[in-house]
Amino acid sequence: MASEPPRLIAGLEIHQQLDTREKLFCQCPTCLRDTKERSGEFTRFLRATESEMGEIDRAALEEMRTVRRFTYYAYDTTCLVEDDEEPPAPLNPEAVGVCLAISKCFGMEPVRQVHTMRKIVIDGSNTCGFQRTALVAMGGSLPGGARLETICLEEDAAQRVTDQVFSLDRLGIPLVEITTGPDLHSPEEVQATAEFIGMVLRSTGKVKRGKGTIRQDINISIPGGARVEIKGVQELGLIAEVVRREMQRQEGLITIRSELSARGASTGHQPADVTSLFAGTKSSILKKAKVILAVRLKGFGGLVGREIQPGRRLGSELSDYAKRCGVGGIFHTDELPAYGITPAEVTALREKTGAAGSDAVVLVAGTPEEAGCAARQVIRRAAMALEGVPEETRRMLEEGSTAYMRPLPGAARMYPETDIFPVTVEKAAWEAIPVPELLTEKAKRFELELGLDPAMAYQAATSENLPVFEEAVRSGVKPTLAYRAVVSAPTELSRKGIDVGRVAGKDYLAVLGAVEAGQVAKEAIPDILGAIASGKTPGEAIGSLGSGVSTDDLTRIIRKILDERKDFVREKKMAALGPLMGLVMQEVRGKVDGKLVSEALRRELERSARDGIS
Ligand SMILES: [Zn+2]
Repeated sequence: MASEPPRLIAGLEIHQQLDTREKLFCQCPTCLRDTKERSGEFTRFLRATESEMGEIDRAALEEMRTVRRFTYYAYDTTCLVEDDEEPPAPLNPEAVGVCLAISKCFGMEPVRQVHTMRKIVIDGSNTCGFQRTALVAMGGSLPGGARLETICLEEDAAQRVTDQVFSLDRLGIPLVEITTGPDLHSPEEVQATAEFIGMVLRSTGKVKRGKGTIRQDINISIPGGARVEIKGVQELGLIAEVVRREMQRQEGLITIRSELSARGASTGHQPADVTSLFAGTKSSILKKAKVILAVRLKGFGGLVGREIQPGRRLGSELSDYAKRCGVGGIFHTDELPAYGITPAEVTALREKTGAAGSDAVVLVAGTPEEAGCAARQVIRRAAMALEGVPEETRRMLEEGSTAYMRPLPGAARMYPETDIFPVTVEKAAWEAIPVPELLTEKAKRFELELGLDPAMAYQAATSENLPVFEEAVRSGVKPTLAYRAVVSAPTELSRKGIDVGRVAGKDYLAVLGAVEAGQVAKEAIPDILGAIASGKTPGEAIGSLGSGVSTDDLTRIIRKILDERKDFVREKKMAALGPLMGLVMQEVRGKVDGKLVSEALRRELERSARDGIS
């Protein structure tokens, strides 16, 4: 018996920024900047050039129809390479090394020579009109059996600030792009694979952390559907949901195709000018428009308004295409009368366009150029609905539904970058690269060797502060204390909206040192870290929020209390410890560890019992 074909065919393309000191093709630092810190800006016009392969990329052509003038923000941390005024420097050897180490983690085979290629990008995100990318290794497979196809070293694109404005700080930060085979067959498997790859990447200790530093593209198709690429999913936890919703969308479009086919639906009608019908309309959008065009879609009645994804209808897909022409959206008869459009206007519209009850009519409004372009785009997308699912690049909306971005890029996208010399991967150098311990292995080791419980061990191993945690433990700090100060306290502080990124590794170690010296109670750790995060030096923070109570101070305080209660102490002897604890804790304002106080108090009571109180 033949096995069932999979319900889902999916693959991942994971982009991860590397934490190298310098950018990929210049010596600028790999740090992000606030746009307010920009030192200048300039404007460029980008147009599609014919690639050396002789074809113009169809995604590029699509972009050409829209915006082509871009503004770039430059900083004192960017140079003429980002501006595309100076040729790129040779491939950053540190980035090549990290990429090779990652390749080795995944059991991939390196290429003999790393060649830099140009990939056409004319959405403005690269000042030169292309992105540089270099294939570094191939092959390999994941524990679940999915294949890895390639790992490439790439330059990150400029960060979009608004539609036509980009920030150059991100341009040129080294990225690895890891591509899996189309071997993933359930939404959960896609998510688990992305999580696993992310974990391996972090195991190298050489990747950037935090929002936007890892971005996943998901390729999805179902039987009878088409390949759709969903770009730039940043929330790992949403990946399974994104996949489920795309499967639902493709199934919805396939059902709509069958119904359209059964109804003999067609899109052959020319747009009709219906501006005059709406001369007295209450719809503010139609009132503002110079021209209103109506597109009759034969046999589409009821289907344009059908939901194909939570919050998304076939109408949303038509609208996405129309928006490329500068209009705000569309109206269609499946949702009318509404939005200030009256029943009488809808009746007049149907009469004028000759639309039957089983037909849908779509309205687009704007300048003559915008409306004409939008009407053609609506017809184009409606015609695709007769075929089923179009191949597309889509972007994620909130919650995991998606919207159209552009057609899938064609094959003729790459040609050689002649400014960069190839880099040979020496066999000896490849063999000398150490494979790092995976974070999951590290977590197991923390359980066994440090006695942490599994949840704490996992959190420590996957924490951004892992190196600090390991250093603290190596220097003899108790693992649970190190966990508390370096792993759980910063997590709690971030949840309260405190930016703990300003607390450096050495600051954590200074605070831990103060705790061990008895200068600071464990309880005061979050407050002290919070103070450091707000700009205080560790010394200042410990001074004001640690007790500032040294062991000598503590002894002095205890002796004073004992002295004031001579009779009580003489009578109760060691039994005075309990009642006096509270008094001492009050005196040190709870900022000395209770255990230290109790030890010091016991010592002093023993001393006074022995020597008598003077
Ligand atoms: Zn630079």
